[in-house]
Amino acid sequence: MLVFDRVTKRFGANTAIDDASLTIRPGVITAVIGPNGAGKSTLVNMAAGSYCATSGRILLDGVELQGLPKYKIARVGLGRTYQNIRLFDGLTVLQNLEVALVPRSLPRLIAEALWLAPGGVAEARVTSLAVLRRLGISHLAGREAGSLAYGQQKLVELARAIVGRPRALLLDEPAAGLNHGETDELKAHIRALRSPDLAIVLIEHDMKLIMSVSDEIYVMNRGAVLAQGTPAEIRDNRHVQEAYLGQPGAMEHIETAARGRRNRVRVRAGEGLAWGRA
Ligand code: ADP
Ligand code: MG
Repeated sequence: MLVFDRVTKRFGANTAIDDASLTIRPGVITAVIGPNGAGKSTLVNMAAGSYCATSGRILLDGVELQGLPKYKIARVGLGRTYQNIRLFDGLTVLQNLEVALVPRSLPRLIAEALWLAPGGVAEARVTSLAVLRRLGISHLAGREAGSLAYGQQKLVELARAIVGRPRALLLDEPAAGLNHGETDELKAHIRALRSPDLAIVLIEHDMKLIMSVSDEIYVMNRGAVLAQGTPAEIRDNRHVQEAYLGQPGAMEHIETAARGRRNRVRVRAGEGLAWGRA
């Protein structure tokens, strides 16, 4: 279970998250929706250790995540994708997954030795290939990540997020920029990921996708939780309709943003390859 307990995040004078509490249960898909700037990505970034909360607690299976470096948070069991793709451009798809499995908490030389040990490599490879197969992209294993089409890169990001068998999986706009066919494929993958011991957070603007795959929805607005409920409850919630969904043109705007967005692929080639860096 992933818990945000009265979390606040300020950037200078800007309060991005304002005393928000969310409980993400395993076995279900929890969507987080809300207009741009609502604070959705900030929630993910705080949980994953990219940002530090100003106050409040973030717990994964009872372990306080605040203050832990990213690799330790990953080891506790948090997997995430980025709103803007972050793959190692110059590495193959398989290597992008294998790198995520390297025990970075160990001193560099020990990690390298382990990594170079035949068993370690073989095991990471088998695990990585199994995940690629599961997502239907094992044929891309040897391709350089930077050479792939946008939709394929999004799937590789998903693969990398699940290769460490996380307990909580946070997907930040996985469908942004995908076409209809790709979105349907993604939907099937997300549904297939649902399992009793995995808590899934799905941040999306594509309301059709949200309504069809999520079990629970949190609506964020200006850093606060505006509403929480089942898809049907959220659809019928008068406050949500007034404050968010019911704004004239709001839905069209959101759908257009979801369809039209082509996040420029940002790659940090080579970054993170220095073992030990969070
Ligand atoms: P969403 O993902 O819901 O669109 P974000 O979490 O990206 O929203 O942003 C929430 C608020 O926090 C926005 O006002 C945004 O400008 C601000 N914010 C997010 N990241 C940073 C940052 N690194 N520095 C300063 N302000 C930030
Ligand atoms: Mg965002």
